[in-house]
Amino acid sequence: MMQHDKQMLPDSACPVDQLGWFVNHTLSTRERESIENHLATCPTCQAKVTAWTELRQAMRQVADQTPGPRADLFSQIEQQIDLLPAPAPLSWLSLFFQACWRTLLVVGEHFRVQARLIRRGLFWMPLLIVPLVGSMVYLPQLWQQTPGETALFAALLSALGMAFLYGPQIDPVREIALVTPTSPHLVLGVRCALISGYTLLLNCGLVLPFLAARGIVTPIWFLTNWLAPLCCLSAIALLLSILLSANASALICLILWSLRLLDQFQTFLFGDGRPEILWQQQYEHFWHLGTPLFGITIVALLLAFLVLERKEYVVQ
Ligand SMILES: [Zn+2]
Repeated sequence: MMQHDKQMLPDSACPVDQLGWFVNHTLSTRERESIENHLATCPTCQAKVTAWTELRQAMRQVADQTPGPRADLFSQIEQQIDLLPAPAPLSWLSLFFQACWRTLLVVGEHFRVQARLIRRGLFWMPLLIVPLVGSMVYLPQLWQQTPGETALFAALLSALGMAFLYGPQIDPVREIALVTPTSPHLVLGVRCALISGYTLLLNCGLVLPFLAARGIVTPIWFLTNWLAPLCCLSAIALLLSILLSANASALICLILWSLRLLDQFQTFLFGDGRPEILWQQQYEHFWHLGTPLFGITIVALLLAFLVLERKEYVVQ
């Protein structure tokens, strides 16, 4: 065919489009006669018709050699499909469990990665509360079994942990993390859950049962005077670390904490005859509010996430 094309180019009057149909015998009698008249005078079209005819014969030979499909092919396929075991219909319950399982896997992976990135100190530091509580219980002459001071230390340890949870000074891989699809919120959320969960487990799962069993604290006292200030100071530490920096947050928390210790220190120095200072009393009263402190905790955490969004957006 190519050879024919190269040798002779068709005229503009040549019915090139109809030549294929002519070879196929699908033209009307009139069209057919018209083409035959043209072919008598045009060697270019004759060559094209020869080429089309050769191609048609070649295709016919191939078709003759290719065995056709069995007549019952489709019914056979349908029978095979019917024989296949039908997949068990998935109930909404199993779909729900599958979704839960996938979510658990993703969350677990995030926790695993973040647990490796968080400073080891954040896991060790809260453990200091264990010897403190032990000494309070077993060395009563030193602490006179006053859990208030130990609660103060527990709050400080927890707050320092939160201050060093997230931020440019803390994270060597933060720059890399910022360009990955993992959102800063997710990173902060996972870390927050890890460290606060760990601290809560330590305090509520170990310290509270131990002290309650010794009759030193009641669960209500623990909730109001131990857990509430601990959560509140920790949330403030987290917010400050995102607003300012980890070091500034730690310093401010230390000052907030020292102000409470000042009251204890004056009591220690002057005994009951110490001068009454109004702001100190009010300040100390604030840390024993109980439920409102949990409210402040939630607000501070929400603010921390909100501020983080704005900050990371600016960085990027
Ligand atoms: Zn022609």
